[in-house]
Amino acid sequence: MADNTIEIEAETLEEAREQVKSRIPEGLYLLSERVISDGKPKTARCIADKTGAAFEKAQDGISSDVAVIQKKELTSPAQNVRTVEAFDEQSARTQLESQIGNTAKIKSLRLAMAGKKGFLGIGKKPNQYDAEVCQQAVVEITYKAKAKISATVGGLSSLPAERLIGEYLRHRARQWWAAQPESRTVATCDACGGQPVSRNEGHLVGSSLWCDDCYADKDVEGQLRRDPNAAGFGVPQEAQRWAAAT
Ligand SMILES: [Zn+2]
Repeated sequence: MADNTIEIEAETLEEAREQVKSRIPEGLYLLSERVISDGKPKTARCIADKTGAAFEKAQDGISSDVAVIQKKELTSPAQNVRTVEAFDEQSARTQLESQIGNTAKIKSLRLAMAGKKGFLGIGKKPNQYDAEVCQQAVVEITYKAKAKISATVGGLSSLPAERLIGEYLRHRARQWWAAQPESRTVATCDACGGQPVSRNEGHLVGSSLWCDDCYADKDVEGQLRRDPNAAGFGVPQEAQRWAAAT
């Protein structure tokens, strides 16, 4: 059977994964998953001369199908005058720039009071400059896009060897269950000796019934990747034959 793709949108990644699981058609299995959007809140920060313009700029940068959670003005626009002392205009500008940070602009700079050159380094006095500084508006928009997953599903023949063996061990568990009286609805996992396994669930490894948690925790798939016979000698061939007949 040809592989096909399921695309799911949900509020969270977990929900999207649950929905993917429930949408996989009978006889098909999840082969791979690609997260298109993780559904987590994100923040866009923008700077402009005026608050409204900063919000517009931030809004332009985000897609229109997202939910806006919060709009916040972090810094209001303002104009103020600062005085700096320096021996020349260039160093006055450099000093100012380091003081005002990168969200403000120097609008004008003028010499307010000339300093003194001094004599042999004695009596030297810096100039005084007045600067008009424009603090720009800094805004932040917090938004959330939906979580989006693209999942590829395929038939048994598309599964990697260790996954095929896993499905075969599930099939063997269902066979084991079929031999149990119908009144028996739950069994105990043989691997951990505690977890209940519901009817028709679990993996039959050798003659032991394993719960899904033990199967994942003991990394049976990883062991099967390293040694295809890890779940029993000849099991890979049995799994192949079962797949061909299914
Ligand atoms: Zn267990």
